Amino acid sequence: MNVPEFVPNLIAGEERPALSGKTFDKCDPCKGTPLFSVARSEAADVAEAVRSARASQPAWGGLPAVRRGMVLHDVVRLMEDRREEIAQVVHRETGKSMKDALGETQAAIQVGLFYASEGQRLYGRTCTTGVPNRFSMTVRQPVGVAGLIIAANTPIANVAWKVFPALVCGNGVVLKGAEDTPATAWLFGRIAREAGLPDGVLNIVQGLGPEAGQPLVEHPDVGVVSFTGSARVGKLLGRIAGERLAKISLELGGKNAFVVCDDADIDSAADWAILSAFSNAGQRCVAGARIIVFESVYEAFKRRFLERTGELRLGSGDGDDFGPVINGRQLANMIASVKKAVDDGATLLTGGDRLKDAAHADGFFMAPTVLENVPPDAPISREELFGPICCLYAVPGFAEALALANDCDYGLSACIHTGNFHRGIAFCQAVETGVAVVNAGTFGSEPHMPFGGTKNSGNGSREPGTEAIDIYSDLKDIYIHTDKGKL
Ligand code: NAD
Repeated sequence: MNVPEFVPNLIAGEERPALSGKTFDKCDPCKGTPLFSVARSEAADVAEAVRSARASQPAWGGLPAVRRGMVLHDVVRLMEDRREEIAQVVHRETGKSMKDALGETQAAIQVGLFYASEGQRLYGRTCTTGVPNRFSMTVRQPVGVAGLIIAANTPIANVAWKVFPALVCGNGVVLKGAEDTPATAWLFGRIAREAGLPDGVLNIVQGLGPEAGQPLVEHPDVGVVSFTGSARVGKLLGRIAGERLAKISLELGGKNAFVVCDDADIDSAADWAILSAFSNAGQRCVAGARIIVFESVYEAFKRRFLERTGELRLGSGDGDDFGPVINGRQLANMIASVKKAVDDGATLLTGGDRLKDAAHADGFFMAPTVLENVPPDAPISREELFGPICCLYAVPGFAEALALANDCDYGLSACIHTGNFHRGIAFCQAVETGVAVVNAGTFGSEPHMPFGGTKNSGNGSREPGTEAIDIYSDLKDIYIHTDKGKL
């Protein structure tokens, strides 16, 4: 399957254009030319989608959770059958290689499998009580309508991460597709319908954030919102949802520290740093953007890291290391940020600009970029760039490395490379992040693990894992009294 010419909404089981008839163009990140057009939805489309989700929710939520899980198992099985097709769409929309797109599709399938099986484990608790002749327990109930908003960086994984837990909990769903990867959401909607998900349970609106995303968060019938995106937008949506006391889960950005100690295996640390900083073109909330190295091994690490950076190949083939960034705006922002850092005195060790050779010039290819001599309070040390850009910092020892890792407005992920067990554990305990890793990359979360961050990286919620069930379901306390006189 190739990408469609037009990506519509999915509302009440029907593929529809936006009510206004408006569209926008989605660009091919490898060529910079339009790839297809997309429904440009507004509040009226969102209202229709919410109405549809609300109307179909009682029947879906009324199914036993085990039965909902069985339907989701059918969706997962169809995703498995059509994994090449899904990966093709991801590959075309993002410009990442088929190999990476297939890996991401497999990760989405794993998430789907996990939550389909949660249908058999949607546990409440049986509790103790201080009252004679009373049983007390908790049960889980659907929230109602879930409004889901996602980023474009790993499109099929981002869809699965939210849609499966929201559905297994019995909610009606409205998903706002990412404007840079709308076709992946569209294809998922088709597959879910073909697999037997009842019409109207999953609705997909396409469009731009302020026009189609914000009305979803503002809608009074949306009981729970889950958002993956930037801290700037997350804070805005947190305020909007807070105004009407809707539940909201915010999975936001990161500026993640990668620490290399004097007793690290330098080759292995350099390999992991390359993956952390540059894989997926640095478009990961968990990208390793701040590489903090003990002074005694700084030059040795830098040499190896730059050698490895120089070997990286950019393109969308399976032999390439990473592809383009998602759009021209992000690319221009990255180039401007690096230029400002250099104007302010940073040393550019490699990269710093888009690729200008004939094979890459038209696409949004940002060269892998490494800087040093950057103050910790400079914008490039603090602001997330979401691209293949990292800074190197030299520190005297462990205490300074930890302090610099924590001198950050974000708190998503961090890693340390060391041969010292005690250092590894101490770092994991003291680093102010939601994820901490010893001797690997700043990325690598698993479907059953609760992912999320501190500070500007989120509002304390955790997805996926069983913890996401707490987001998409409400607990109800039930007390049952027996009457001994009636025995
Ligand atoms: P973004 O915040 O600009 O957009 C994300 C989504 O929000 C898109 O679907 C967009 O249309 C929508 N949106 C934008 N403005 C909106 C508004 N006013 N109301 C409602 N919706 C709105 O982010 P981006 O640049 O597209 O994505 C990159 C960001 O996502 C980075 O900060 C990255 O770290 C973060 N991210 C976080 C995670 C995580 O799990 N923590 C995972 C992937 C990406």
